[in-house]
Amino acid sequence: MYSIAERWDRDEYPVTEISMAKLLVGRVTTQVADTCLQLHGGMGYMAESGISRYFRDSRLIRIGGGTDEVMKEIIAKTALGL
Ligand SMILES: Cc1cc2nc3c(=O)[nH]c(=O)nc-3n(C[C@H](O)[C@H](O)[C@H](O)COP(=O)(O)OP(=O)(O)OC[C@H]3O[C@@H](n4cnc5c(N)ncnc54)[C@H](O)[C@@H]3O)c2cc1C
Repeated sequence: MYSIAERWDRDEYPVTEISMAKLLVGRVTTQVADTCLQLHGGMGYMAESGISRYFRDSRLIRIGGGTDEVMKEIIAKTALGL
C-alpha cells in the first residue's frame, strides 16, 4: 500500500499493483466484517445492528470502482499479458 502511494505521489500510475491492492483490500475487508458479524451472533445479523450495516457496506468495496472480476481481468492483461 505504502509503495503504491509513494509511486502515485511520484505521478506514476502502477495499474497492476493498484488493481492487486484493491482486490486484496476488498477480500480482507469482507473477511473481517464477516468475522465481526459472526462474533455478534444472531444480533449481528439483525438489520438494526451496526455490524449488519458494516457487513453490507464492506461488500461495496468488491463492487464499486471496479468489481473483483474486473480487477482480475486488469491484472491478467497487464501483468500476465493475457
Ligand atoms: C452504493 C453504490 C454506489 C456507487 N457509486 C458510484 C459512483 O459514485 N460513481 C460511479 O461511476 N459508479 C458508482 N456505482 C456503480 C458501480 O461502480 C457499479 O455497480 C460497478 O462498477 C459494477 O457495475 P454493475 O453494477 O453494472 O455490475 P455489472 O457490470 O453488471 O456486473 C455484474 C457482475 O458481472 C461481473 N462482470 C461484469 N463484467 C465482467 C467481465 N468482463 N468479466 C468477468 N465478470 C464480469 C461483475 O464482476 C459482477 O460480478 C455505485 C454502485 C453502488 C452499489
